Amino acid sequence: MKRKIQRSMMTVLVLTLAVSYLLLTLFVYRQTLDIMEDGLAEEARYISRAVKISGESYLADMDAVDRETRVTLIDENGAVLYDSFGEEDSLENHATREEVQEALESGVGRDIRLSDTVGLEMFYYALRMDDGNVLRVARDMDTVWRTALNVLPFMAVTGVIMTVFAWGISRYLVGKLIHPINNLDLEEPLENDVYEEMAPLLERIDRQNKEKEQIEQMRKEFSANVSHELKTPLTSISGYAEIMMNGLVKPEDVQGFAERIYKEASRMITLVGDIIKLSKLDEGSVEVEKENVDLYQLAREICSRLAPQAEKKKVHLEVSGEHTEYFGIRQIIDEMIFNITENAVKYNKEGGKVSIWVGNTLQGRRVIVQDTGIGIPKEHQERIFERFYRVDKSHSRESGGTGLGLSIVKHGALLHHADISVESEPGKGTRMEINFH
Ligand code: ADP
Repeated sequence: MKRKIQRSMMTVLVLTLAVSYLLLTLFVYRQTLDIMEDGLAEEARYISRAVKISGESYLADMDAVDRETRVTLIDENGAVLYDSFGEEDSLENHATREEVQEALESGVGRDIRLSDTVGLEMFYYALRMDDGNVLRVARDMDTVWRTALNVLPFMAVTGVIMTVFAWGISRYLVGKLIHPINNLDLEEPLENDVYEEMAPLLERIDRQNKEKEQIEQMRKEFSANVSHELKTPLTSISGYAEIMMNGLVKPEDVQGFAERIYKEASRMITLVGDIIKLSKLDEGSVEVEKENVDLYQLAREICSRLAPQAEKKKVHLEVSGEHTEYFGIRQIIDEMIFNITENAVKYNKEGGKVSIWVGNTLQGRRVIVQDTGIGIPKEHQERIFERFYRVDKSHSRESGGTGLGLSIVKHGALLHHADISVESEPGKGTRMEINFH
């Protein structure tokens, strides 16, 4: 980047120098031309005066003195009467020469062209004298070009000096410009005192840093929780097994002990199953085969799967609404509705009711699960979607809960851009809504 900025700075300088050289040359050329014209006009006036006073012989006298200016006297018909450079007789008629024509018409005339006689580019200035003859003075343009070119070495030296100078300054400036960027503290992006243009970038890095920290923190907490959750049933299993191993259990109690071991082991299986589901969702490695899912049909299937559990608690399950198609991942939507409905059964009262409504609303497709259960106190409503969060640990465990069900629901909702809302009143019941947009 440093080199790039410096290179563009130098390009700007070189371009500027080239353009100023061109402009300067043009300017000097014009100036010299003006000066030359003024000089020639003056000279023509003097000579014409002198000719008037001392006659045409003056021209021949002057010839010896002035060699740089070519002086020509032409009569009104274009015949050359005198020429300081050539043989008058061999010169052709000059009536067609531009400057002569102009002078004959308006008094003065000028032209720049390659001279046939001398073979050089000349500046001609012609003046009509009182006697009708035209006096023409001319100088070659070499001087003009030479003056213009004289600027070149001056410009070259200036160019070299300026380039070296600019190179040094740009190096210093670019270094100064880049320094804060090279010394950014990416661990604490907002602490940097740099260009305001970089604020969005730094804010973004800060956000990402915080997110990373949060994820790291959640990971740590999660593994600590997982180990703890796994240890509890394992300790029970090991305890029951130890008592049995030591022959401390009466034969008639063996079945009861085995049942407890079986229950704890089942809990562990469910827990491990939930953890696997969550980590799959975390990694995003779920099958993303989307298909049209009839949410109503799905809700009915889930109800029949939950029927035995509901029957045990004497909870009445019902589904109403209409067929509603949604394009999503069947397995995950199933998991979401299942977990919410299972909770509605688990945290219900004996003889309670769970009603599911599925249908289209203006805001999108909606699944509402309403129960007449124990409800969730306000202060817990936000947190129940966290991993392993349970309002009442013992109740959850008793009913075979892992504390992971609703975090699976939350993950599934994120994956489907769905949102979930909870309304609940302790003692009266809970209403959970999933809105698929
Ligand atoms: P669990 O496996 O414990 O059911 P969840 O993540 O599914 O874990 O739910 C978290 C907690 O939210 C539960 O432990 C329970 O306290 C509370 N909860 C969830 N659904 C309901 C409900 N319908 N009624 C009352 N409490 C609920």
